[in-house]
Amino acid sequence: MIPCNFEYYMPESPEEAVETFLQLTREGKNPMYYGGGTEIISMARVSNITPGAVVDIKGIPECNFLGLRDNQLIIGAALPLTAISESQVFPLLGKAGGRVADHTIQRKITLGGNLAGTIIYRETSLPLLVCDSQAVIAGPHGIRQVPFSEIFQQRLYLQPAELLLQIIIDRSYLNLPYVHVKKVKQDKIDYPLLTLVAIVKDQRIRLAFSGLLAYPFRSLTVEEALNDPHLTVKERIDRAVTGLPAPPLHDILGSAGYREFVLRDTLKNTLSTLEGYY
Ligand SMILES: Cc1cc2nc3c(=O)[nH]c(=O)nc-3n(C[C@H](O)[C@H](O)[C@H](O)COP(=O)(O)OP(=O)(O)OC[C@H]3O[C@@H](n4cnc5c(N)ncnc54)[C@H](O)[C@@H]3O)c2cc1C
Repeated sequence: MIPCNFEYYMPESPEEAVETFLQLTREGKNPMYYGGGTEIISMARVSNITPGAVVDIKGIPECNFLGLRDNQLIIGAALPLTAISESQVFPLLGKAGGRVADHTIQRKITLGGNLAGTIIYRETSLPLLVCDSQAVIAGPHGIRQVPFSEIFQQRLYLQPAELLLQIIIDRSYLNLPYVHVKKVKQDKIDYPLLTLVAIVKDQRIRLAFSGLLAYPFRSLTVEEALNDPHLTVKERIDRAVTGLPAPPLHDILGSAGYREFVLRDTLKNTLSTLEGYY
């Protein structure tokens, strides 16, 4: 049971969603955009949040669009993770979303919710970070398109009343050689000790990680080290580990030392799997 009452709105356009959100804010109702609702409901149940109103974005056609247009793949932010993986349009994103929570919850969790939520892993950001994707955002000043890496730095940075409408990825990225590895502590379904996504683009490996630090990231320093043809594999991995933006997490899932061990092993396997492409 949710111990507070809240109003529910389902606008049919980005403009209506933003206007509704602004009006509810003016009325002091502390509104929230609502994707799959899994996080909002879990947090409201234990009174971690008390929204006076939610603005459900699933009625906005742009947020439900999935398809190719002008050599670009457009993915609506309100699409459940299962819709993306089952479509097979972008196998790497399908894999990343297909390892978030379990299959039942994946039917609810939306792409936008995974990216904008408070749970630190945000695993669907990894393919978007390595594939130079763009984000389409609606807000009080209209609709803007920005590089995903500009608004996603550890988490999604949106201005007040803005919502993520869509993600756009150039078609040339959709079927590149890739590796997706998710290492968990025990069961297949858990938060990641380490999730690694790697692609090869223009004969260079690009990588992004979740679970290793307190936020998902792509690091050009790590990529420099791993792409250095003058170093042995061991030297590349040593340099990549030294070049991490922060020491590995040390928490209930695993110690920093264990995470580093898992990272080294996963990097070794990744380099070996992608050998010949870079
Ligand atoms: C059991 C369980 C296991 C999980 N395991 C993992 C895991 O292994 N890996 C992982 O990465 N994550 C995991 N998560 C986290 C999950 O992906 C997030 O909680 C996600 O926010 C839920 O998506 P949703 O669509 O239900 O979001 P909602 O509950 O609808 O919204 C969450 C937040 O995002 C905001 N939001 C939603 N959509 C938009 C949008 N389009 N624009 C702007 N803001 C928006 C909402 O306002 C709210 O603040 C897990 C969650 C659960 C419940």
